[in-house]
Amino acid sequence: MNKTIQQLADIILNGGRLDRRQIDTLADASTDAFDDLLYYANRIREKYFGNKIKLCSIVPGRLGGCSQDCAFCAQSLHYDTPVDKTPRVLSDEEILAAAADAKAKGVPNFGIVYSGKAITEEELQRIERLIKTITEDYGLGMCASLGIINAEQAKRLADAGLKRYNHNLETSERHFADIVTTHKYADRVKTIEVATKAGFGICGGGIFGIGETETDRIDMAMELRRLGVDTVPINFLHPIEGTPLANQKTLAPRQILRIIALYRFILPKTSLKIAGGRVLNLRDMQSWIFKAGATSILTGNYLTTAGRSAEADQQMITDLGLEC
Ligand code: SF4
Repeated sequence: MNKTIQQLADIILNGGRLDRRQIDTLADASTDAFDDLLYYANRIREKYFGNKIKLCSIVPGRLGGCSQDCAFCAQSLHYDTPVDKTPRVLSDEEILAAAADAKAKGVPNFGIVYSGKAITEEELQRIERLIKTITEDYGLGMCASLGIINAEQAKRLADAGLKRYNHNLETSERHFADIVTTHKYADRVKTIEVATKAGFGICGGGIFGIGETETDRIDMAMELRRLGVDTVPINFLHPIEGTPLANQKTLAPRQILRIIALYRFILPKTSLKIAGGRVLNLRDMQSWIFKAGATSILTGNYLTTAGRSAEADQQMITDLGLEC
């Protein structure tokens, strides 16, 4: 057993947390000690989360036609991707049918995701109605991902019954400008702060495999820790034809598992949700994510790519002796 990893894990298992110097030491020590890193990431997960795995599903409220230029995204108008240039707005009936499906399949958390930098007043009014209906009639925990919001919009969403807000940092501040130029990292930080002030639980994370370095990954984790998010969605690039990252080499499954494990050490009490890119990138190693420290998954389809059925994911979790 690698002594450095063991000593650093003991700090966390005894209720402490690692400082930046210790995290850098862990990253160095774990380069050639994959199994030891996973062993302790799993111990940390068990200590703070027990056997419980959280399932979430999402529906796009508006898909495509986005003015922003995130280099990984199929929905951006800046790139010639397979997604239509005209945004597709799902009807209330389609969104409620997706909520009913989530409930029927025993997926307790449901998110509405809008493409774009922000929402209009008309869209906000519609989302307020949908949140009320889904919360009251279906009993699902509601999350929303609506881009940049201000304090007044956040209050109205909270009054409508919204419990959680998703807003990702995507990557480190340093790497952000290589990936997005149409808005600033500071805009994203500010929205997370606004949503936190409104009382929402924050689902804030990023995407990996977009040319970032290990330092970028650690920097983002530290910023998420500073912001106090309670869930970190972890996405892995699914290269989309037409985007600047179309030819980016995807991460190998063991690289992905190492990232999850490092995040478990850095954010020991924060839920880690494995989201987009899981099926494509991890292939037969999907079930290893929990041993690497993951505590949540996005099940069903992603926004623009296919995922796995809730039934298959629930079976995987049961087969591992975990509960959802
Ligand atoms: S990630 Fe969001 S903001 Fe960026 S291009 Fe895609 S839909 Fe637009």
